[in-house]
Amino acid sequence: VPSHALLGAVSLIKSKFGWAGVAVAVALYFAVGGLGSQGPRSASAPIGGTGVQNDAESAQVGFVSSVLDHTQDAWTTLMPGYRRAKLVLYRGRTSTACGLGKSATGPFYCPADSTAYLDLSFFEQLSRQLGAPGDFAAAYVIAHEIGHHVQNLTGANARVARAPRDQQSGDGGLSVRLELQADCYSGVWASVAQRDGLLEAGDIEEALTAAAAIGDDKLQRDATGTVRPETFSHGTSAQRARWFRVGMQSGDPNACDTFAARRL
Ligand SMILES: [Zn+2]
Repeated sequence: VPSHALLGAVSLIKSKFGWAGVAVAVALYFAVGGLGSQGPRSASAPIGGTGVQNDAESAQVGFVSSVLDHTQDAWTTLMPGYRRAKLVLYRGRTSTACGLGKSATGPFYCPADSTAYLDLSFFEQLSRQLGAPGDFAAAYVIAHEIGHHVQNLTGANARVARAPRDQQSGDGGLSVRLELQADCYSGVWASVAQRDGLLEAGDIEEALTAAAAIGDDKLQRDATGTVRPETFSHGTSAQRARWFRVGMQSGDPNACDTFAARRL
């Protein structure tokens, strides 16, 4: 089976996750207007108002909700005391407790409001710009952001934020280790999804392709033609794919101690 086009993938995941019965746990906000010359506006309107524009978007919202729910159910079992994250889907721009969220930033997690922020265009971006199409590629990204939420609960986020700057950045630095741990946690979720019968042939490859598509080395080489390991923040393509696999094969968050790992 070749990689599915987005809409095919969405209907597929719909049947896999049975999202008809899933309450929409995702708050969907759409930025109203841009920044323009007036500066930032408090720029969100909740779903139902200016919300979903068409069937494709409503399918994407359903997809994100389903993956989010399954991911967080998995973590509720994996981690005593797990508290659920929120997720805001937006278009364009949105204000967050971590400052302005923009499509250009890509999906991110804000520890200050325990919320993952996802721009709707990221589906298209994954497939078109990064060459990592498919439903499971998107699921990997969502599970990665929830991985950052887990790190917020374990305190890993805060420990890295408190460390001296020169220990944070670069190849093998704390920022890279934090990101690779989130990739590993994403893999842990994938193993639960597999156990629950949600995966099909090709899904793991989609996730690995996505992980490899957003390695620092690849993104830098594509953008500038050169690779500068001293500026790495997320790890190389090979490292990202490797840590996803470590999580996937172990199914155990304790296997994701990238901070203690000598080889990344
Ligand atoms: Zn990340």
